[in-house]
Amino acid sequence: MTTYQPVPTMAVVNRVTEPKFKSGFVPLWGRPNVGKSTLINRLVGEKVAIISPKPQTTRNRIVGVMERNNVQAVLFDTPGIHEPRHKLGEFLVNEARDVLPDADVVLFVVDAAVPPSNEDETATKLLRSISCPIILILNKGDLLNKIEAPQRREEYESIGAFAATHLISAVTGNGVSKLTEHIVNLLPDGPAYYPEGTFTDVPDRFVISEMIREASLASVHQEVPYGIAVLVEELKPRRDNLTYVSATIHVERASQKGIVVGEGGRVLKTIGQVARKQIERYLDTRIYLDLWVKVAHKWRKDDNALLRFGYFVKPDGSGRQ
Ligand code: GDP
Ligand code: MG
Repeated sequence: MTTYQPVPTMAVVNRVTEPKFKSGFVPLWGRPNVGKSTLINRLVGEKVAIISPKPQTTRNRIVGVMERNNVQAVLFDTPGIHEPRHKLGEFLVNEARDVLPDADVVLFVVDAAVPPSNEDETATKLLRSISCPIILILNKGDLLNKIEAPQRREEYESIGAFAATHLISAVTGNGVSKLTEHIVNLLPDGPAYYPEGTFTDVPDRFVISEMIREASLASVHQEVPYGIAVLVEELKPRRDNLTYVSATIHVERASQKGIVVGEGGRVLKTIGQVARKQIERYLDTRIYLDLWVKVAHKWRKDDNALLRFGYFVKPDGSGRQ
């Protein structure tokens, strides 16, 4: 099974010539409400807006990149928060299958303010089969006193096998720099997946391309969906409260182009209208949306096309789950 994780469009830079660069894939694992999103915000810093992925779309699990000197850690969320309780186990099983095999370090996040729950145990069970280091993160340390802390630590350490434990507070930032240092030490040598320091506007492009992709999926009902990739080419504020967005919907075959454009361009028009509303709400400005449809033959089998469309291809050339 080969699916691909997206990175913001056109953002892959291979630095094989700089062997000292370190990078890797770091899922944050754990039940809802333990503070994963808050921690991601902390680790990423203020440079990158956090993408809030729709749980049902498997393509957008990336939520941020932690960038330090010569280091990039691509952070993934466990987006299970909206799952009903009884579904959590099932959901985590799927997540485990999809995200964990490629992880370089797993951050297992728990709420240290309360003792371990069944959900925490379910979550740790799925980590048993993986071979990379798992860091236990006792979050919400600000809610614990010095007497409670060692006991909590013991309770949580007993539910799994962890390479290390960090007591932190994602809210106050306590313990986070030590944790960051530890993550960096555990990352393997690897390329930069993003141009250094230039990814501030990239998430916008990514979010917008996902919005257009979603609008396309909603408007076509035939076998096109998996063959669609959207590339945002331009995103430019023009004048007061108007932003110009130009994007191309890439399909795999000429027949699919016909479907996406529709008779007299009707389908494309609907896609544009739906996407525009969403993008305007997201950017909080009026936009002019210039949408194109192009045939990119078999792009799903073409590494260069995949990179161009913002899908991960790992340093060894294989695709990412
Ligand atoms: P997620 O579901 O695991 O992504 O959890 P969130 O990051 O959405 O956080 C859930 C709740 O816990 C929010 O109300 C956060 O403000 C709160 N929270 C997260 N980290 C901390 C922390 O370190 N200390 C305290 N006191 N609250 C936290
Ligand atoms: Mg969350």
